[in-house]
Amino acid sequence: MKVGFIGLGAMGRHMARHLQEAGHHMTVHDIRREAATPFLESGADWADTPKGVAFASEIIFTSLPGPVDVEGVVLGPDGIADGITSGQVYLDLSTNSPVATRRLHKELAERGVEMLDVPVSGGVEGAEAGTLSMLVGGDEALYRRMLALLQQFGDKPFYCGPSGAGQVCKLVNNYLSLSIQPLLAEAFTIGIKAGVNPATIFNAVSRSTGDTPSMQRRYPTGLFKGNFAPGFTVNLGRKDLGLALEMAKDFDVPVQYGPISWKEYDETSKRDRGLLDIGAVALIQEERSGVEIRADL
Ligand code: NAD
Repeated sequence: MKVGFIGLGAMGRHMARHLQEAGHHMTVHDIRREAATPFLESGADWADTPKGVAFASEIIFTSLPGPVDVEGVVLGPDGIADGITSGQVYLDLSTNSPVATRRLHKELAERGVEMLDVPVSGGVEGAEAGTLSMLVGGDEALYRRMLALLQQFGDKPFYCGPSGAGQVCKLVNNYLSLSIQPLLAEAFTIGIKAGVNPATIFNAVSRSTGDTPSMQRRYPTGLFKGNFAPGFTVNLGRKDLGLALEMAKDFDVPVQYGPISWKEYDETSKRDRGLLDIGAVALIQEERSGVEIRADL
């Protein structure tokens, strides 16, 4: 199959690699041309524009930072929409706004192009291992047709409903998984100041009702070691919480906790830590409390 892939970043490069290793002929594009080098060395074609990718491919994927980038790549000058024709399929793996996704879905449907929203979950490790969760929105028959292709980079596909439903579920998930990071840091600093070391707190919580994948994934090799190599950047976390809050506003839902968490990501970003892993939101609480959350397990 001829597959196009735009956005070869922390997530995209692994998903595209799985597709290339499965034997598809790839045409790739990224604003950082150097990101394409390993693909070109393995036989992929380069396209100078998203339009060029669409022209050369039956199925086109994007894995881009957010709504503005996706909209520009699809509908902007030399965008996918300029090169795509009836019968082709567009799959967006980015975490995006459901409202923007539904608008895009409608625009493309008018040109005879089918689209699914396929935001993914499981982090860079999941992308590398091919074990991502994929939360899919769009036509169910199209989802079934695309399933074998999606399973080449993720083993947990889940159909969420019509266009935008994948993004709704992804933003709800991230509202939870991102909001808990500042709370975790707060809880640990309380425990440490009250006299128990972080390793003991971690081991106690791991056996109890406060355990969470957000702690398991980010504490032992991340915060405990002072290692904030991304991963999932603070800037992307800020973007996702912002999109979830925008969704709350769009659908008239009062919220209290999300905005407090968003402020922590925003503040971390303003302190020049936006390109660090989201585990770095704990640094603000460390500074406030005068306690470092470092440990050897
Ligand atoms: P990233 O910033 O590492 O990668 C984005 C890539 O898109 C980069 O290579 C960038 O150069 C390219 N790009 C940006 N604008 C472009 C444009 N206009 N045209 C072409 N290329 C462009 O981000 P990432 O961590 O790979 O995340 C990608 C998406 O997946 C985001 O929507 C993110 O929220 C989501 N996501 C990330 C993670 C994670 O752990 N990193 C996990 C799940 C979902």
